[in-house]
Amino acid sequence: MLLEGKRGLILGVANKRSIAWGIAQSVAREGAQLALTYQGDRLKENVEELAQNLDRPLLLPCDVTRDEDLDALGDSLRKEWGGLDFVVHSVAFALREELDGEFANTSREGYRIAQDISSYSLTALCRRTVPLMQERGGGSVVALSYLGGERVVPHYNVMGVAKAALEMSVRYLASDLGPKGIRVNAISAGPIKTLAASGVHGLSKMLEYHRTHAPLRKNTEQAEVGDTALYLVSPLSRGVTGEVIHVDGGFHVMGMAAL
Ligand code: NAD
Repeated sequence: MLLEGKRGLILGVANKRSIAWGIAQSVAREGAQLALTYQGDRLKENVEELAQNLDRPLLLPCDVTRDEDLDALGDSLRKEWGGLDFVVHSVAFALREELDGEFANTSREGYRIAQDISSYSLTALCRRTVPLMQERGGGSVVALSYLGGERVVPHYNVMGVAKAALEMSVRYLASDLGPKGIRVNAISAGPIKTLAASGVHGLSKMLEYHRTHAPLRKNTEQAEVGDTALYLVSPLSRGVTGEVIHVDGGFHVMGMAAL
């Protein structure tokens, strides 16, 4: 088993459709012991129910906008485990009204919220978990991104700008943390129907467009992202850091689909 004896923290399970849940299933299958977080009491029950499918995971609350939650998360992991081998950041949020119409109309508060939750939180999380990974002689961090952070995608708007910042954070973090033996990478996933994605106006058209134009002619599956995350947190990717891997059926290579 690739992750026998490894301990990982996963943020972002909201329900069974969550990409974070796909990742949890992939890494648990290879023997990893997990800590899952939930964002407030509203989602606690969902995560508790899903956790019954895993081998006694730690369940911890964490709202990434609250420094006290992030501090408490780090403290709990130190108390329970003493160290950590990998961290998965699968968290994003933007106000619904910012994911429709023109990016040019983005409000100051909408911009701040998207950046805080979807981008800065990765750095904030690393600040709390790097010492724990150092206890284990190194580690791996994986974040989730989307093509809308590289190119303009209708309605993705402020979230695209947050993903651009997230991907650049991955590179700066990879540079800072590499000497400590910690790798930092992102997966840029194709569109998947999840709770967060449902906030983007026109999601079903987007899924249809992707299915008909991606080289693999299919939509991205949760388990495909899960298995790439498994690769990134396992020793198989030990030479890889600062990378953004597209798991999108090849959609991002297309300039024009047909003439
Ligand atoms: P999801 O709704 O299942 O997961 C989003 C998670 O973010 C939820 O668990 C939610 O609780 C969490 N979250 C939001 N605000 C938070 C806060 N303040 N504190 C803590 N957690 C908070 O949707 P998903 O599609 O699985 O999203 C996971 C990641 O994948 C996100 O980064 C998203 O941008 C990215 N992504 C999704 C798609 C897609 O099409 N679904 C494609 C590419 C990338």
